[in-house]
Amino acid sequence: METFNPEKAIWSVTREFGEHGGVAPSISRSSTFTVIEPGTMPEIFEGIKSAHKDGCFLYSRHFNPTVDVLSRTLAALENTEAAICTASGMSAISTALMQICKTGDHIVASSTVYGGTHALLEHVLPDMGISTTFVDPSDTAAFEKAITPKTKVLYTETIANPTLKVSDIRSLSKIANANNIQLVVDNTFSPMLITPANLGAHVVIHSLTKYINGASDVIAGVVCGSNEFIMELMDLHHGRVMLFGPTMDARVAFDVLQRLPHLAIRMKEHSKRALAITNRLQELQLKVNYPGLKSYPQYDLFKSMINEGYGHGAIFSLDCQTTKKANELMSILQNQERFGLIAVSLGYFDTLMSCSGSSTSSEISENDQKTMGLSPGLLRISIGFTGCLDSRIEQLERAVKQVGLI
Ligand code: PLP
Repeated sequence: METFNPEKAIWSVTREFGEHGGVAPSISRSSTFTVIEPGTMPEIFEGIKSAHKDGCFLYSRHFNPTVDVLSRTLAALENTEAAICTASGMSAISTALMQICKTGDHIVASSTVYGGTHALLEHVLPDMGISTTFVDPSDTAAFEKAITPKTKVLYTETIANPTLKVSDIRSLSKIANANNIQLVVDNTFSPMLITPANLGAHVVIHSLTKYINGASDVIAGVVCGSNEFIMELMDLHHGRVMLFGPTMDARVAFDVLQRLPHLAIRMKEHSKRALAITNRLQELQLKVNYPGLKSYPQYDLFKSMINEGYGHGAIFSLDCQTTKKANELMSILQNQERFGLIAVSLGYFDTLMSCSGSSTSSEISENDQKTMGLSPGLLRISIGFTGCLDSRIEQLERAVKQVGLI
């Protein structure tokens, strides 16, 4: 089988020229759309005519031409039949899960998902009668064991946030198929690197806020899946994206679309720098975690899932043992060395650093953090690609020395 090339896939999507032949696509900012004949409108409502088949747009919460171009391009990136963009990563996650699960249903989820997702599963979905069992994402058998007759979804992140535990998507997919349930994968940390649908995931989600946009200036998300599932999400009477309404704005779609052509270049550079920096930290005998390091416990599994040529991503963690030490290090790195910024989120062209236990994973109880191996001094670093790599390594070395980690 020919190996999947995400760059080629993106460019297989028909280029959309702007009005007057613009090299950039136009932004279609209309909230509503005219029909030439009044009879067309009921046909759109009855599903006889559609935006995709017939170019019949109705209303921008349903489909919008600019958002549609982005959705088609992201479906190509993730090698799924279709996709729908949303206003945030969280709305992509919540609407997809609420579409699949109804009252009484059950989810088996990785215990180390992003804090917001964890809170949704632990506190919000139970109010709707949807329960979740959390399991270690690196323990595939635990997912299988937790399945009950009510289970509708296995939910995981390709690389867990912030522990970087890797999920075996191929094996999880086999378990999902054998039990007739859906495997939903959040691939936010690894666009281009990993294509979960090629490994058997049924639904793939991204927070576009991160790498795919890459400029930390918009909040956005996407759900990628089968035609049938995406049309279900957009159904005028039952669709959770259509009816909860986390609609992406056409201007946001345009911004993200204009950054997709350099996503591959960015991912390669992020990965190259993360590997060089973590290799150096390892030489200094620091407790560093990065799926690209040969010493990483799941190195072989990760390697077996990647599309060659994009490296291992930009996120690594450095265990500073205590929150105090992690804070001291971040402060020096930001305010003295200008190495990076103390901020949540990831996927920016500059380096972003946060102490996960007291920030993005603070929704997770202290006890659960301990169980999932999240140390209070764990510093999550999303390596950017600004500045010169050699001087970045020197800055980091000076800072770890100054706080006494070496
Ligand atoms: N998924 C992951 C892995 C994340 O890290 C985040 C946010 O940090 C989200 C989803 C939520 O995305 P958004 O902030 O775009 O709603």
